[in-house]
Amino acid sequence: MSETRNVVIIGSGCSGHTAALYAARANLKPLLIEGHEPGGQLSLTTLVENFPGFPEGIMGPQLVENMRKQAERFGAEYRTAHLTSADLSQRPFLLHLGKHQVHAQTLIIASGASARWLGLPNEQKLIGHGVSSCATCDGFFFSGKEIVVIGGGDSAMEEALFLTRFATKVTVIHRSESFRASKVMLDRARQHEKIKFLTNTVVDDIYDPIRQEVTGLKLRNLKSGEVSDFPASAMFLGIGHEPNAKMFHGQLETDADGYLKTHDYVFTRVPGVFACGDVQDRRYRQAITAAGSGCMAAIEVEKFLEEHGK
Ligand code: NDP
Repeated sequence: MSETRNVVIIGSGCSGHTAALYAARANLKPLLIEGHEPGGQLSLTTLVENFPGFPEGIMGPQLVENMRKQAERFGAEYRTAHLTSADLSQRPFLLHLGKHQVHAQTLIIASGASARWLGLPNEQKLIGHGVSSCATCDGFFFSGKEIVVIGGGDSAMEEALFLTRFATKVTVIHRSESFRASKVMLDRARQHEKIKFLTNTVVDDIYDPIRQEVTGLKLRNLKSGEVSDFPASAMFLGIGHEPNAKMFHGQLETDADGYLKTHDYVFTRVPGVFACGDVQDRRYRQAITAAGSGCMAAIEVEKFLEEHGK
């Protein structure tokens, strides 16, 4: 089965929803493909205090749900599917959604970025059994336990602070001496009585895949070379994100880390293909900037279709 749409939006985070809202209000009947992580990173967070318009803050999942409802009210269509490959060599662009195909006159890529993993063999085996990249999703399961958080940026601090609600102790393990985290977040974590820090330290292994649970970590101090075992019931990753752009590699320009390159905010090098949000923004990575660039992409789609025809 195949269909042709004016505009297809890939991704259902802040940028995708905002693009859908603007495209729907321009009467373009956008189709939004939700992907594996509906709601994007906001659906994995708790209180968002820096999105203007919510003086008391708003829960991340609620914010994305509101955005979706708002776009749907104006006729945006949402579909749960995963983009397996795309042919951007001619218009309409051909998008493969598993067995289903969609032709798109224009494409907005808002596929965001996903959590990064350490890449240890036992890590994948223990995901869902004590290894997690989402404190808000999984923290609850480790009430009364000792937890480890990996990373030295704001994500790691945020996860560590959140996990103090459940854990008896949270140890932040960071490979460097200095932290990328903002001063306010780092200070908050440093001042918390339940949070301890281990710097210049990396995780070499995670125990115990045979028991199907995390029982501890094998750590290595990068300065002294000393190797030690560290007891823990869970390991949460807070080491940054990877852009979800692999399906466009070779067809669209990317930087060294795989982020889509855009010019004039949201234009890719292929006319009719626009990119917005975290898949093309490694600098700001905020909900509000993602929403803003989603708006820009939809406005450019509208102009493009006026000039080049639907
Ligand atoms: P960052 O890139 O800022 O930090 C990633 C951290 O993970 C670094 O400390 C890095 O160590 C470490 N790291 C990366 N790869 C590995 C690895 N393989 N093994 C061990 N450690 C590793 O990412 P964040 O996700 O923390 O933040 C991204 C952006 O989002 C930032 O701009 C941040 O301010 C923002 N943000 C804001 C929040 C808020 O305001 N509430 C919450 C979360 C994020 P090293 O320093 O040694 O490279």
